[in-house]
Amino acid sequence: MPSAYSAGGSHASGTRGPATGVLESARNFSNLSVNSALRIGILPGDDIGLEVVPECVKAMRAAAQRTGLAIEWFPMPIGRQALDTIGHTLPPGTLEKLDTLDGWVLGPIGHQAYPRDNANAINPHPILRKHFDLFANIRPAKSYPGLPALYRDVDLVLVRENNEGFPPDRNVYAGSGEFRPTPDMTISLRVITRQGSAKVARAAFDLARTRPRKKVTAVHKNTVFKLGCGMFAEECRKVAREFPDIAFDEVMVDTMAAKLVMKPQQFDVIVTTNTFGDILSDAAAGLVGGLGLAPGLSAGPVRAMAQATHGSAPDIAGKNIANPYAMIMSGQMLLAWLGRKHGEPRALRAAELIEAATERVIRAGRKLTPDLGGRATTADMGEAVAAEIAAGA
Ligand code: ATP
Repeated sequence: MPSAYSAGGSHASGTRGPATGVLESARNFSNLSVNSALRIGILPGDDIGLEVVPECVKAMRAAAQRTGLAIEWFPMPIGRQALDTIGHTLPPGTLEKLDTLDGWVLGPIGHQAYPRDNANAINPHPILRKHFDLFANIRPAKSYPGLPALYRDVDLVLVRENNEGFPPDRNVYAGSGEFRPTPDMTISLRVITRQGSAKVARAAFDLARTRPRKKVTAVHKNTVFKLGCGMFAEECRKVAREFPDIAFDEVMVDTMAAKLVMKPQQFDVIVTTNTFGDILSDAAAGLVGGLGLAPGLSAGPVRAMAQATHGSAPDIAGKNIANPYAMIMSGQMLLAWLGRKHGEPRALRAAELIEAATERVIRAGRKLTPDLGGRATTADMGEAVAAEIAAGA
């Protein structure tokens, strides 16, 4: 099948001159072009992805406009729409095209509804994570005064290892990490490596340094999984010694389930293995108001992918009622990450503008989607955020 990317198709906005200021030295961390526009892909995903991704891009564009940050946009087909139009949920040439970008926005993927009898109807998601070594899945949970939620004053970030652990579609190079040797027995492999554990631990400590409370909690269960969780814990402790300015503690995952539910305010950055992180991050989202408030970023050594924690929510798709917050704030995280990576203060400023604008829209309470107790549509809320970015300080 020919590549879907033989022709151009980008949309540029804004201008981007040479960056200045204290972040200049961080440029060396990037092997990407530094004096040109940021190159960001737009992959809408499925179901509510088609509704929330445009609102995310709208906010990012508005923030870029305000700060003079140049972004070159690359809309790319993926998922069900790509299957229907091009014949593949991950069209040929997609990985090669993404290789040329700095990052991208990925909408939620509704792969459960893909036809089972079509070999081209694959879940693109694990392939993207693996191919680009997006080893850290960063999932914040933050409560807002005025929103219906179980807790106030929660401001934590869960950093989840993204490419090892239990998920059978990504913890092995080929084949599957889950298999059934007899009709009545299933074996699921869990993969933990020193390198993978150290990398995600370092991402968590780096993140903690950018936050006021400067604390990392490693979550595992090394009392039972002596080798697997034991190795993860050892690597977290080693990395902790490189960050003497960051407080560090360890909590068993079952204890964590109780602590998170009883007093989530005590946590700042939490680092853990893949499946523990998947479960705990959804729980954390539930504590602050639900999945519509749960953004996410999958970050690797060179590129990052904005991707909300929630799935494609087919139950509410097409109704224009999905909360765009999670997707908008995922885009915000991508800009902040790119700003740090490329030493680009305008991207950092754009991220600050988006965060402040969403906070104002939430505080005003007039343009909120039904999951937040309001009656606004997805587009209304996204429009309100973009307008606040354009107007705000
Ligand atoms: P996945 O396994 O792909 O993560 P899931 O099965 O956990 O997906 P979701 O698609 O995340 O399920 O949806 C779970 C519930 O949360 C659904 O009732 C859905 O409507 C709701 N939900 C998810 N995202 C949003 C959103 N952005 N706004 C409002 N409700 C949402």
